[in-house]
Order: sequence, then structure tokens, then C-alpha cells
Amino acid sequence: MTQTNRQIVLAARPEGEPKTSDFNLVEGVARQPEVGEVLCRTIYLSLDPYMRGRMSAAKSYAEPVEVGEVMGAGVVGEVVDSSFDGLNRGDLVVGLGGWQEYFTAPGTSVRKLDLDRESASTALGVLGMPGMTAYVGLKNIGKPQPGETVVVAAASGAVGSVVGQIAKIQGARAVGIAGSAEKCRFVVEGLGFDDCINHTDPDFEEKLRQACPDGIDVYFENVGGLVFKAVLRLLNPFARVPVCGVIAHYNDTALPDGPDWTSLILRSALVKRLTIRGFLVFDYADQEAEAIEQLSQWISEERLKYREDFVSGLEAAPQAFIGLLKGKNFGKLVVKVSS
Ligand code: NDP
Repeated sequence: MTQTNRQIVLAARPEGEPKTSDFNLVEGVARQPEVGEVLCRTIYLSLDPYMRGRMSAAKSYAEPVEVGEVMGAGVVGEVVDSSFDGLNRGDLVVGLGGWQEYFTAPGTSVRKLDLDRESASTALGVLGMPGMTAYVGLKNIGKPQPGETVVVAAASGAVGSVVGQIAKIQGARAVGIAGSAEKCRFVVEGLGFDDCINHTDPDFEEKLRQACPDGIDVYFENVGGLVFKAVLRLLNPFARVPVCGVIAHYNDTALPDGPDWTSLILRSALVKRLTIRGFLVFDYADQEAEAIEQLSQWISEERLKYREDFVSGLEAAPQAFIGLLKGKNFGKLVVKVSS
């Protein structure tokens, strides 16, 4: 049986903020699996900030998507045809399926879901790449100690929400930063952070200072921009800054106007003996099993909560992705492609 396969391909490389015209919806036929491969129907498609980097030809840690090529993404799918010994029709798997309704992949490149401990969508969020990012970034670089203050921005999102909750579990004070009063309320009341400051508030810097009376020991960097500037002056001696992402800059086409902050950043790093260290989740691939085990245990103990933001239909992905880069999502952004 042949399956019609709708796909979203990169139509043009965006200049600055992506537009819906940078994407194209095309229709083809799903490729049947060869020996060792599976054909899967996409159920959930994960939208993540890193995809903005893949749309650009600029040199990065991963190859860009070519114009005309299917946008890459982590997905959860159902096996509809298998020529791979370890997987059968009906199995749910997670893998790099891309923005399309069907994908064909080597059986060794996908992981069968363990439905006793994960649901189809959490495999893309709290128990997937974003949850693991929070876990390994804090464990290996942030290293929060009881009583210390941990600050994280994009705090209601996929990574930030997990960062603050782990900090709390480890006995630290967690202060979130988010882009609306509603998100801040959720971060405190729904996730249990000690405080959350709205970065669009005109008094943001002062409110952040008040929320961190003992300074900041760990700043988990998700956004950069004005948030980093406000945090820098509050960092304590020997503070750790895991640099996870700088989403405020992903659409930049040039260095920002205004004063040059280089000397202030370097002087702070020197005088306060800061550790500012970038990382990619893949650097810690050997900690994946440990991370997923620990995160699922915390979920089952109701010590770790998560929020998902679903949009429906493959064709909704471009607009939802554009919104993600502007804070329109509220929780881990997932496209429901099929039932
Ligand atoms: P989120 O679910 O948190 O969604 C992105 C959020 O970023 C938005 O909702 C918005 O939240 C915030 N944001 C967007 N623009 C700005 C801005 N200009 N200033 C401040 N906040 C902004 O995304 P993820 O949790 O998936 O990703 C968070 C970060 O982690 C990203 O930078 C991402 O690239 C990075 N990352 C890095 C990985 C790694 O291996 N290093 C792996 C996974 C993610 P709000 O409205 O609250 O401001």
C-alpha cells in the first residue's frame, strides 16, 4: 500500500524573523522500507528553537537544512510497516522523522517508547531532548547547592521549567523569568518556583534584583539579550552560567547597536571568577539513560510537573514555529500531526 506523504520543506533561507513563505507544503509518496528499515506515521512533531539555526547557512555545530529539503525534527510515530527485526506494526517510536506525515528510517535510529513510564508526547519534552538538556546542564555545569539561588529564563518553557524544578528538588532557591504575567503565575503556582519576574515589565531589572536578595549563584542561560544584561550585575563570585541557548538572538542579522559590553563581561568573569560554559545536550549522550530514569521518577513522585502546548495539523507547524521564537508558546510546543 502506498501512503500519500505531506511534507514541509524549506522554501527560502529567512533574513531575520522567519515568514510562512520560507516554508512550502508539498505532497509526495512515502518511501517503502528496505531491509532493516521501518515506515512510520507521524503522530507528534516537536518544534524547537534550534530549528532556526538549521534554516540558516551560517556555520554551526550541525549541517543546515538545504532549500527544498524537509525540515528536520524529533517526532513520535507509529510503525505502519517494518522490515526491521526489533519493531512491529503498531509500535510507537521516537526518532528524527522531520516535518512530514510519514518517515522511513533505519530501525536502529529510532527508540521504541516505554509506555509504562512515558507518554507519546512527553518523549519529545520533559522525558526527551529538552528535559535531558535541563538535567545535564544543571548537573555538569550549574551544580546548584542547597540554599543557592538559581535563575532561569524561558521558565515556563520546555527546558526552563525543568531547570527550576530540579533546582528546587536539590534545595536551591529557584527564580524564573518569563514573558507574561500569566506565564509567571504558572511558574510560581503551577511549578513551585520561589519567584518569577516578567521580562517585559519596565521595572524588570529592579524586580529581578529584589527577587535575588543574595545574588545569583547559577544562571541557566536560555535567552541572552536584555535578560543576560540584567543578570550579569547580580552574579555572585564563583557563579556558574551554563550557556544552553540564546533565543533572543536567533533572528539577528547583525551585532546589536549600542554600547560594547565585552569589557564588562570579561571584567565580571575575571573579578568574580565566573564559569561561563556552553554545552550541547549531545555532549552528554552517555547520561541519557540516567537523566530519563531520574526525570521519570520525579514525575511519578509528582515532584516534577510539565506543561505542553499542542497545535493541530502539519500545516500549522510554520506559524507555530514562528510564534515559538517570539514567546507565543506556553509550555513544550508540539504539533499533533495525526491521531
Ligand atoms: P521554550 O519552550 O522555552 O520556548 C521558547 C521561549 O523562549 C519562548 O516561549 C519565550 O518565553 C522565550 N523567548 C523567546 N524570545 C525571547 C526573548 N527575546 N527574550 C526572552 N525570552 C524569549 O523553548 P525550549 O525550552 O525548547 O528552549 C529554551 C532554550 O534552550 C533555547 O534557547 C534553545 O535553543 C535552548 N536549547 C538548547 C539545547 C542545547 O543542547 N544546548 C537543547 C534544547 C534547547 P517567554 O515568553 O517566557 O519569554
